Amino acid sequence: MLEIKNLHVKLEDEDKQILKGVNLTVEAGKVHAIMGPNGSGKSTLSYVLSGRDGYEVTEGEATLLGEDILEMEPEERAAAGLFLAFQYPVEIPGVGNMTFLRTAVNAQRKARGEDEMSSTEFLKVIRAKAKDLKIDAEMLKRPVNVGFSGGEKKRNEILQMAMLEPKMCILDETDSGLDVDAMKLVADGVNALRSEGRGFLVITHYQRLLDHIKPDVVHIMYDGRIIKTGGPELALEVENNGYADILAEDA
Ligand code: ADP
Ligand code: MG
Ligand code: MG
Repeated sequence: MLEIKNLHVKLEDEDKQILKGVNLTVEAGKVHAIMGPNGSGKSTLSYVLSGRDGYEVTEGEATLLGEDILEMEPEERAAAGLFLAFQYPVEIPGVGNMTFLRTAVNAQRKARGEDEMSSTEFLKVIRAKAKDLKIDAEMLKRPVNVGFSGGEKKRNEILQMAMLEPKMCILDETDSGLDVDAMKLVADGVNALRSEGRGFLVITHYQRLLDHIKPDVVHIMYDGRIIKTGGPELALEVENNGYADILAEDA
């Protein structure tokens, strides 16, 4: 599904190398988690995959279902099936949540050469999905993320993900601001959307989220590289012992 090979990334404006050879393959149907100490490059990896400005890929590649995503515009990445959920979703005053979602869904369809969803069909789909995710109909009418609580923003992010039906979902969840309830929401959403044809990369700053999302594979990132890969037990090892042993092993 997602294949990252020897990815090297530096800051565009500064002579600072952040990713120093990341190798990672996420298979369809699997949930991979990335953990690692602060400053390891986890968020940089998700930004680069999303196509955010300010980074320069100096070596390596990233493909989604065999297609080079690094060459694509952010909208093209979304059309190809990539979804990135970020820690601080943007607020869009004046634009209703439902309108925003309909625009996003139809832009994706258009980029794929598909017909737009009619407003009747869209309403049917969004109501069903919102109900599944226990999202209040009122929230669909409010301006995007404006005045949403942390939990509501998370719920909305999961709704965006459900509506766009991506093939590959990348979530960058720092622990800051994620209380237990919000964490549970994210986990329930991910678990509900887990399916054979869909891959997940869950980036998290600590283990607790992984109590609720049981990953198939856990990677530890440090200093711009994946230094260890294992099963769910690796997350428990970090929870119990921190990163010191793993870093010492790597050194
Ligand atoms: P993590 O998400 O693992 O905490 P980040 O990807 O946020 O790590 O950061 C990795 C390293 O790159 C850190 O040392 C951070 O300070 C640096 N970095 C990332 N983006 C920038 C930037 N725009 N300007 C300066 N330094 C940056
Ligand atoms: Mg950080
Ligand atoms: Mg981060």
